[in-house]
Amino acid sequence: MRVPTQTAAPLVPPRPSLPKLREAAADCRACDLWRTGTQTVFGEGKSSSQILFIGEQPGDKEDLAGRPFVGPAGALFDRALEEAGIDRNTVYVTNVVKHFKWEPRGKRRIHKKPNAVEITACRPWLEAEIKVVQPRMIVCLGATAAQAVIGPKFRVTTQRGQFVESPLAEFVTATVHPSSILRAPSDEARVLERERFVEDLRKVHDALVARVRRAQ
Ligand code: SF4
Repeated sequence: MRVPTQTAAPLVPPRPSLPKLREAAADCRACDLWRTGTQTVFGEGKSSSQILFIGEQPGDKEDLAGRPFVGPAGALFDRALEEAGIDRNTVYVTNVVKHFKWEPRGKRRIHKKPNAVEITACRPWLEAEIKVVQPRMIVCLGATAAQAVIGPKFRVTTQRGQFVESPLAEFVTATVHPSSILRAPSDEARVLERERFVEDLRKVHDALVARVRRAQ
């Protein structure tokens, strides 16, 4: 029987690779979320990915599928990436927290924001993913990811699309989480929010293209 640990750090294998990390994270019990989530939903993508996207946590569909960004928000994300000129097969996607946190509402499982203890417990997995992938660009999706990765003072509402200095990657930025676009109060607001999201992703694409041109 596993003894609960304060963070996942002792579980991170030495000389990690993505397959090794995924295997080790499958048994993680470093916080209580393993009790409510169906399974660990580890990040997905190639270790050679130039862009690493970080969301908050897996949603209902992701929890059941065991894969990140496959639910309705994931479908929106895929289409937005395509419109921004970013190939989904060349990015790595993950979450700050790898288990689904939810509360029951009738028969539905409603997303519940992870707390600081859970984010801290899960952080070693994210740090290990960043270390293995070594992305040129990190894009945080939503306030939870932005505040965990960039800092608690970062405000997605006013600073989205801005690139910030970070030891984690050459470019680090944040935008909204695609699920927030789905929750927009009206069709009109949803269309506008979606356009702004694609615009932020275009900035990501353009920054990388400009970087490649400078290096030539
Ligand atoms: S949420 Fe993260 S730290 Fe908590 S049990 Fe799951 S993988 Fe481990």
